[in-house]
Order: sequence, then structure tokens, then C-alpha cells
Amino acid sequence: MFGKILIANRGEIALRIQRACREMGIKTVVVHSQADTDAKYVRLADESVCIGPAPAHQSYLNIPAIISAAEVTDAEAIHPGYGFLSENADFAERVESSGFVFIGPRPETIRMMGDKVSAKQAMIEAGVPCVPGSGGALPEDPKEIIRIARSIGYPVIIKASGGGGGRGMRVVHTEAALISAVNTTRQEAKAAFGNGTVYLEKFLENPRHVEIQVLSDNFRNAIWLGERDCSMQRRNQKVLEEAPAVGISRRQIEKVGDRCAEACRRIGYRGAGTFEFLYENGEFYFIEMNTRVQVEHPVTELITGVDIVQEQIRIAAGEKLRYRQRDIQIKGHAIECRVNAEDPYKFTPSPGRITTLHTPGGPGVRVDSHVYPGYFVPPQYDSMIGKIITHGDTREQAIARMRTALSETVIEGISTNIPLHRELMVDEKFMQGGTSIHYLESKLSHREALNK
Ligand code: ADP
Repeated sequence: MFGKILIANRGEIALRIQRACREMGIKTVVVHSQADTDAKYVRLADESVCIGPAPAHQSYLNIPAIISAAEVTDAEAIHPGYGFLSENADFAERVESSGFVFIGPRPETIRMMGDKVSAKQAMIEAGVPCVPGSGGALPEDPKEIIRIARSIGYPVIIKASGGGGGRGMRVVHTEAALISAVNTTRQEAKAAFGNGTVYLEKFLENPRHVEIQVLSDNFRNAIWLGERDCSMQRRNQKVLEEAPAVGISRRQIEKVGDRCAEACRRIGYRGAGTFEFLYENGEFYFIEMNTRVQVEHPVTELITGVDIVQEQIRIAAGEKLRYRQRDIQIKGHAIECRVNAEDPYKFTPSPGRITTLHTPGGPGVRVDSHVYPGYFVPPQYDSMIGKIITHGDTREQAIARMRTALSETVIEGISTNIPLHRELMVDEKFMQGGTSIHYLESKLSHREALNK
């Protein structure tokens, strides 16, 4: 096992990784920007290195600075967390060529999954159900493009192979609009991602977002850890996640989970990963794979008892997976509310100093957050300041515990989206479960209309 790990991230996930390391008796090095010097996890780390000024491109995205920090501190491995450099194949390559272990998949795998056309191709070959589509990059010939779109049926969505973060996509409802939409998406993709390759797939109108968590070691042992429903989204950003997903039969989940594990074995996947699917009319459709730990990993941890971050570290250290598929038993239900420093109605960021802070507790309540009373939320980064996660024997109990937890939470000095979460916990449709990815947006526009 490693003696020392460098954490190349910030905020709650830096603390989460640090906790995993401590439990395993591994020393930690935290790299941080000048804006995060006073963060508690920076002080709690065995060592810390300031790698640059607040803007992320000068610090958390500064590859040479991170590599030198690992060199001067004699770290053996680097954990990238999520966001920042976590899905950057060049970074993973630099880490490994500098003699450190990258806690994540092989650079080739990150590259393959980062390119949506090659990712989808690999999934089709592995028998993972995908959205019907062009089966590869779109050709140049407009007649051929029209033929492909016709065979799929409108509406279709044009997607950039190199796209990400919800960018580089365009929905087309009629044949008349198709070719100009393809051309515009190509140009935009070329400008934004340096890659003008686009492909086409059926546009699903009212899907849910359901994803499968996997773990896979260096010896082609792969398991899946149940699913998560992350349909509660605003502008393609997840707001609330839960596990398991309501109203989908275990048999169907098992079928798709087994396919995902099989895909991991086929491509020699290493580490933790997530297969994201859209789920509509009783069918799963793969959209992309995330090759890193996700924000919402705790809901899976609570229903399976598996510590995903520790398993990432064990796999990276070359250990064999400690679980077989039959060891994974789903217990109860878990919900996660992402707490953001933002206006609960307008959603504008609300950085600043937290003057008062009371965090919730009690049975089945977990809080993953790096903030404390007097903490200054810097304006330069993502607005998420933590996550409240509850677990219960049933979904109803998890919701009841979340209501209590939210009612106990007090954060003053900045605005947060806690009021929105309180509303959701008594929302009739949410309580029924199974809402689509458009539900929250439509609820919010309704709320806005009422407030006018
Ligand atoms: P990104 O890498 O930019 O996040 P994804 O492929 O994960 O791109 O898609 C982001 C979001 O776009 C999905 O969560 C979904 O809301 C929407 N989307 C993508 N593909 C489709 C599709 N075929 N039909 C309907 N919506 C889609």
C-alpha cells in the first residue's frame, strides 16, 4: 500500500479523500491555491503545498506545479478527485511518466471515454444498450446524413464527439433544419474542443437519468454497485441524487449492471467509474462514462457499505478487488442533497463568509463538507459547499430523515439552496418518485410564475 498520497483537488472531495487515506494509515499531501490556504483540510493534511494563485488554470489545473509538489513531498500516488484534471488523459499520462501512480483508469481509457464516438463504439461492442444513432461519426455527404436521420426518426440530437459539460449538442425536430444544424454544431465543436467530429442520435424527450457505479481492478475483476437516480437537475447540473432508482425492476437493473461490469472487463478498465444512462419507456440508453469518482458516490456507499474512495486507492496500489458481485447487497435507500452557496430562487452564486453554521446529525445522516463557522467561500470555484446524505430502511425513512436534517441545518452569512431542498422533500411528485430530468426545471418555472 502507498505510504503517501497527493490530493490534487479542493473542497469537500479533498477532505473526503483525506479521510479515506487516514483510515488506511496513508499520509496525505494537499495542494492548494492561495484562496484555499486557510481551509481546514489543508491544515489537517500531513503536508500541504501552495501551487499558485486562486484562478484554477494557475493552480488546480497547473500540471507542472502539481507534479513538482509530488516530487518535493515524495508522494507515491496522485488522487485527482472529480472535476479539474480528473478526466484529463494528458495529466494521467504525465503523472505516470513522472513515476507516480495515477489513482484512476489508464490514460488510454480516459482518452477513449472522453471521445464520445469511441466510447459509444466500445459500449456497442460490449453489448451495453445505447441510444439508437449514426453508429459513429457523421459523414460529410448531406444526403447520407438525411438518410441516417430519417432511419432514426425525429427528433434527433447532434452531439460533438469531443463535447462535455452539456456543451456541443443541438436538437433537431425537422428535416429542413438538419443540415444547417449539423454544420453549426461542427463549427462550434471545432472552435470549442478542437475536434469537429459530430454524431447523431435519437433525442429522448422525457427520460430519467440513471447511472451504474462500477469498480474494476487490474486483473479484469469487475463489479457494479447498484444504480443511482440523478434526474433532479437544473441546467444539466445534478441537484439531488438517490439510490436505488424508484420503479425499475431489479431484474432489469441487474441486466444492465452486468453489461457494465462486462464492458469493464473487456476494455481492461481500472478503478471506479460510472456508466450514465437515460432511461425512458422502460429502456436504458448509454450516454457516457465518467472515469472518476463522482460527487454523488456517497449514496452508493450508504446502500452497499463499500467505501468507494478506499477501493479506488486499493485498486491503484495493485490489489485485487475484495468483493465479488454476490457480496454486494443493497440495503435500504439513500438520498443526497447538494448544498450550494447560491441564491435559492435566482441561482446566482453567493460566495462570502459563513458566520453561523449548524450541521445536522442523528441516525442515518452523513455530512460531507469542508466548511466551518468563519469559513470564507471563495468566488473562484464551483458553488457546492457540501452534501447532506441520509439513509433509511425505506425511501420514506430516508426522506423523513432528510427533512429533519434540513430543518436542523443553519447556514448564515451566505445564501444557500437549502430552501429549495426543503421544498423538494415535501414535493408530491418527488415523493412519488420517478420524475424525469425536466421535472425540476418545469417546477422552477412554475414557481417563478407564481412569484411574479
Ligand atoms: P456531457 O458530456 O456534455 O454531459 P452527455 O452526453 O452526458 O454530455 O449529455 C448531457 C445531457 O444532455 C444528458 O444528461 C441529457 O439531459 C441530454 N442528452 C444527451 N443525449 C441525449 C439524447 N439522446 N436524448 C435526450 N437528451 C440527451
